[in-house]
Amino acid sequence: MKKAIKLKNKKYVTFLYIPENESKTKTLRLAAWIPKFFVISLALIITYSVLYTVTYNNLKTKHVASLYKIESLTAVNQFQEKEIEKLEDDAKRVQTQLCENIAMLQELKEAVGINEESKTLVVTAGASNKVSGNSIPSIIKTCDTNYTDHIFEIKTSYVSLSKEAASQKSDINNSIGPIKDKLSYLKAKPSIKPVVGKITAVYGYRKNPFTNRGSEFHKGVDIGAKISTPVAVAADGVVTYAGWKSGYGNMVIVSHGYGFITVYAHNSSITAKVGDKVKRGQIISKVGNTGRSTAPHLHYEVKLNGKNVDPSRYF
Ligand SMILES: [Zn+2]
Repeated sequence: MKKAIKLKNKKYVTFLYIPENESKTKTLRLAAWIPKFFVISLALIITYSVLYTVTYNNLKTKHVASLYKIESLTAVNQFQEKEIEKLEDDAKRVQTQLCENIAMLQELKEAVGINEESKTLVVTAGASNKVSGNSIPSIIKTCDTNYTDHIFEIKTSYVSLSKEAASQKSDINNSIGPIKDKLSYLKAKPSIKPVVGKITAVYGYRKNPFTNRGSEFHKGVDIGAKISTPVAVAADGVVTYAGWKSGYGNMVIVSHGYGFITVYAHNSSITAKVGDKVKRGQIISKVGNTGRSTAPHLHYEVKLNGKNVDPSRYF
C-alpha cells in the first residue's frame, strides 16, 4: 500500500524511440528532475564558457598592450640612462672649462700685474673648485642607480654651474677694462734697452767727461755701441721731435702717454719723422757721435711726468 502511494507521487518522463525499420520501439523512462537538471547544467556550462572566453580575450589584449608598453618604457629608460650619462659628461666638461677659464683669467691678470688679493682661486683636479669664494660642486657619480636622485643632482649641478658661469661672465666683464688699461700702460711703459751695448755712464752726478773735473748731473744713461748700430724705441708712442739739438746732436724724442717720454741722442742718423706712430722695438735712428759726445754711444733718457728718472729702471 505504501509503495503504491510513493509511485503515485513521483513524476516521470518517458522517451520513446521509434526506429524507421520494423524494429521494436524502445522507451526510456526517467525521473522528471533528470532532464531538467541536465538542461540547467548545460545552460550554466555554456554561460560560464562564454564569460570565460570573453574575460580571457580581454585579459590577453591587456597583457599584450602591457608588454608593448613595458617594451616602449624600457627603450625610453635605456635612452634616458644614456642621456643622463651624456649630461653628466657635459656637466663635467663645463665644470672643467669654467675652472680653466677662471684660471686663465687669473693668469692673465697676474701677467699684466692686476692683483686681487681679496679673491682666492683654488683649482684641484676632480675635486670641488673654489673660485672667488663660490664653490662648484662635484658632478654626481655615474654608478648611482637611483635616477630620481640622479636627475635632481644633475639639475642642482647645472644650477650651480649656471650661477658660476654668470659669476665668471661678470668677473670677466669687470676685468676687461682694467686689463685693457694695464696692457695699454704696459705698451707705453719703456721696457727695453734701446741699443745692445755696455753702459758707459750711469744716471746721476758724475765728473765732467770733457774736463774730468767738477760735477754735473747726467740726465740719462750712455750705452756704448759702434757707429750705425740700430736704435730701437723703448715703448709704443708718437715721435714728437726728430732733428738736431745743441749738445744732444741728432736727437729723437718719443712721447708714450701715461707721463712717459724717452730721449735718444748723439745719433749718426735719424730714420723716424715727427708724428710717426712707433711700436716698441722699431728702429728710429742709428748710433753716432754727434753733439757733446766723446765717443760713439747712445745717450738715453726717460722722463716721467716731466722729471728725468733713471732709465736703467726701465730696461
Ligand atoms: Zn749721456
